[in-house]
Formats: sequence, structure tokens, C-alpha cells
Amino acid sequence: MQYIGRFAPSPTGPLHFGSLLAALASYVDARAHQGRWLVRIEDLDPPREQPGASRQILASLEAFGFEWDGEVRFQSQRHPAYRDALQRLLAQRHAYYCDCSRKQLLERTGSSRYDGYCLLNPPLSESSCAIRAHCEAGEIHFEDSIQGPRRYRLDDCSGDFVIRRRDGLYAYQLAVVVDDADQGITHIVRGSDLLDETPRQIQLQRYLGFAEPRYSHIPVAAAPDGQKLSKQTFAAPLDNKQPLPALIQALEFLGQAPDASLHDGTPGELLSWAVVHWQPARIAPTLSKPAPLD
Ligand SMILES: [Zn+2]
Repeated sequence: MQYIGRFAPSPTGPLHFGSLLAALASYVDARAHQGRWLVRIEDLDPPREQPGASRQILASLEAFGFEWDGEVRFQSQRHPAYRDALQRLLAQRHAYYCDCSRKQLLERTGSSRYDGYCLLNPPLSESSCAIRAHCEAGEIHFEDSIQGPRRYRLDDCSGDFVIRRRDGLYAYQLAVVVDDADQGITHIVRGSDLLDETPRQIQLQRYLGFAEPRYSHIPVAAAPDGQKLSKQTFAAPLDNKQPLPALIQALEFLGQAPDASLHDGTPGELLSWAVVHWQPARIAPTLSKPAPLD
């Protein structure tokens, strides 16, 4: 089986150190396995997007020496495929319409965990409803190649989850699963902030009859004080004119040890070195790590 990996940023802003880590780890892991590496822009949520961000992201990837295979895919052009998947889930009763507001749910249950009300009491009208996927009882487990074995009970934690929003926008969970399957993605390497989303994606893959990719969740970069990265720290946009220092810091963050001779090379040379010397076992099996200091 050929390895096919991907990097799938949302165009909510330019790439920063955190997104560089995901791009780098997914790229190097794919190339180290003689695999393909695809780029997919997850532009599903226009209100959250920043004009020009897609173009900026692709320009950064080029400046940092990444070479992707095939055409860049834009999720905004994939709505018919998401609609088809929704129809299948609805027809198989793995999904259902829900018109509960957050407020109603909170009043009814005292929590944000969805209680399955509309599964038993379908709304009278399907217009202006969300669509939720129903979570099967039982455990979902998978082996993350960095974080180790993970076990979840979806019916216990968040309950049935939204796959199409009330405003008609498709949810990330649905789109990512449909596109990963359609593009034949075999390996997903991404930040650990998405680790706990994985069981929902596996649930949808099972319903839709898709193969389950192999998952690797790398640690995310936290500000040195342990806080989440902010604009003032490493969420600052990458500097396309100075790719090397950030690439070296990112490789070191991932436990790799580029030697000093590479500091004067090109981004392409550094990436080629990383592919040949890639040691994924040296990535720390933690959810987050302090970002390097400038
Ligand atoms: Zn409901």
C-alpha cells in the first residue's frame, strides 16, 4: 500500500510555528516512507476565514521548501460530496435532524453533552435544523503511533455530534473524513489538539465504510509559561524570508537533531536531510511542549 499523507490547514490566518510543526512532521514522515504528500485547504467556514490566507499559506509552504503532490484541494469546492455523505448517514439512521438550541439543551440537562432528544423526538420541520451523527455505545480505540493506545466512549462524553450546522455549513468532522477517504489518505500526522476529535472521525469512517488511516499526533507548541500560544508568542506569522531558523527550531522541537552544517543551506536541503534522518521515535509522546525561545 502506498503511503499518502496530507497537510490540511484552515485559512483563518497565515501559518505560524504551530502549523509549521504539523506541515513539517506530515511532510517528512510521508517522504521518509516514499509517500505522496497532499495539501488541502479546509475553507469550510467563511465567517472565520481571512481574505488572502489561502494564498499566504501556499506561499509560505513554497518559501519553506515544501513540495506537494498534485493539485491543492479546497473544501469549499467539495460540498456535493459532503451532501452525499450526509444523505447516506441520514438514510442509514446514523444521523438525524436536531433543532435544539444550546440554551434548550442546557436547561434540559444542565450540561453541554447532547442527550439525544431529537433522535426520539424528531423536529416537525427539517429546515433550520442541525444534523447530528449518532454515537454508538461502546468503546472506540486506536493506536496512535506517538501517543500510544487511546480509548474513548463517545456516548459517554460529548454525545451525538453536529456534522452539519444549523446555518447549513458542514462540520469539520464530516468534511475531513470524506476528503481523507476520497484522497486515499493512509497516514494522518497532525497536532495533538485534534487527538480527541479522532474517535468521532473513526465513528464516521465506520458508518461510511471508509478505511481507517494510521494516526500520529505530535505535541503542540505551548508558550514557555505553559499557556497556549498567542499572537505575541509563536502564533506570529512565519517569516518567509527567513525559513531556516524556524525550520531548524521545528525539527529540534520534533526531537530531530539537524547538524550545524545545515544552518547555511537552503530549506530544500534541510528538508532532504530531515527525510533521510527522520526518527519519529524521538518525537516526545506528550500532548504539548514549550515552544523554543527566539
Ligand atoms: Zn435536538
